[in-house]
Amino acid sequence: MAQKQKRIELQPWQDPKAKPYIHLEGVSKEFRGTLAVDDVTLSIFQGEFFSLLGPSGCGKTTILRMLAGLEMPTTGKIYIDGVDVTHRPAYDRPVNMMFQSYALFPHMTVEQNVAFGLKQERIPKLEIQERVKQALKLVQMDKLGTRQPHQLSGGQRQRVALARSLVKRPKLLLLDEPLAALDKRLREQTQFELVSIQEEVGITFILVTHDQEEAMTMSSRLGIMDHGRMRQIGTPNEIYEYPHSEYVADFIGSINKFEGRVVEDETDHILVESEEAGCELYVSHSADVPVGSQVKVAIRPEKIMIAMTPPEQKRNATKGIVKDIGYLGDVSIYHVELKSGKIVLATQPNIVRLAERPVTWDDQVYLFWRAENSIVLTA
Ligand code: ADP
Ligand code: MG
Repeated sequence: MAQKQKRIELQPWQDPKAKPYIHLEGVSKEFRGTLAVDDVTLSIFQGEFFSLLGPSGCGKTTILRMLAGLEMPTTGKIYIDGVDVTHRPAYDRPVNMMFQSYALFPHMTVEQNVAFGLKQERIPKLEIQERVKQALKLVQMDKLGTRQPHQLSGGQRQRVALARSLVKRPKLLLLDEPLAALDKRLREQTQFELVSIQEEVGITFILVTHDQEEAMTMSSRLGIMDHGRMRQIGTPNEIYEYPHSEYVADFIGSINKFEGRVVEDETDHILVESEEAGCELYVSHSADVPVGSQVKVAIRPEKIMIAMTPPEQKRNATKGIVKDIGYLGDVSIYHVELKSGKIVLATQPNIVRLAERPVTWDDQVYLFWRAENSIVLTA
């Protein structure tokens, strides 16, 4: 998957001595019988661009509101910079939240909108002017400071809202689906901008989104949520390559899954017998799965190779009939039906091979993959 972002070189989450900037310890939130957030423990480090990803209603906004102090946890503790802020009011936290609906004041100019929060804090006029100018420059709206919101496009209004948050210089900025109102093209462009602004100001960002592509391209790490629970936390690459559960595997991109029975469970590999796959599945990592148990082995479509002649390997190799081919520009996606009836998706780059005719409908093909490219899903 494409990475638009320059990686943070230092990866504090791998350093056991690094102190998290934000820490949630066993946080739950109950609303009259609904468990909106269920025992979430999470550490986020200074300068991270962390995303909370999950379907609507899984508790993302509730986590942000608890971080902002707009909602109190039912149980658990919240620490910011090592200080227990669980019962601190919103105004006493170094946090700013940009809401899902970021209404600007319609009768104020762009500059006045951005200055509003600072005026309320009774900051000297000259300083306000300076900070507003700086914030508008950061979001490339400095030339449109005298316009009113109705004279702006959706993308420009979104940037003004961002400037209004940044001008207060929070240590932590919470963004609740900030790009949801923008069309696809503008959203992608704004994703880039948001990442470079974040790198420039160095503030810790926590972004809420239900868009997996958005979370994958923008974040240093992301947390995937399901019904109030945190299912997995990791870098985009870890989440994509090593999903722990079927839920996470299905949530990010497409993936093939084969059911089977564990016949060997060693420290360096697992062997699974799978009628569905029509072969033995050899996975080169360990998992806590006893011999005899049923598991699913998952493999991404782009990790499967297609050939007209049988490969040398016997494990992780099967065959089937091409039932459908979809062209996606630089790659084609083949739908191959195995003897078990299982449809396997395999993507192949569209390069012309002179020696071979291209694989086409109703061809019998061999599918095979490397042991390190498959994963056992244990939950
Ligand atoms: P998300 O942002 O992931 O879409 P939310 O955090 O808004 O999810 O909501 C999580 C769950 O909590 C939902 O079932 C929602 O209906 C419920 N919920 C959120 N806020 C309230 C509230 N103030 N009162 C009652 N239920 C709420
Ligand atoms: Mg929400």
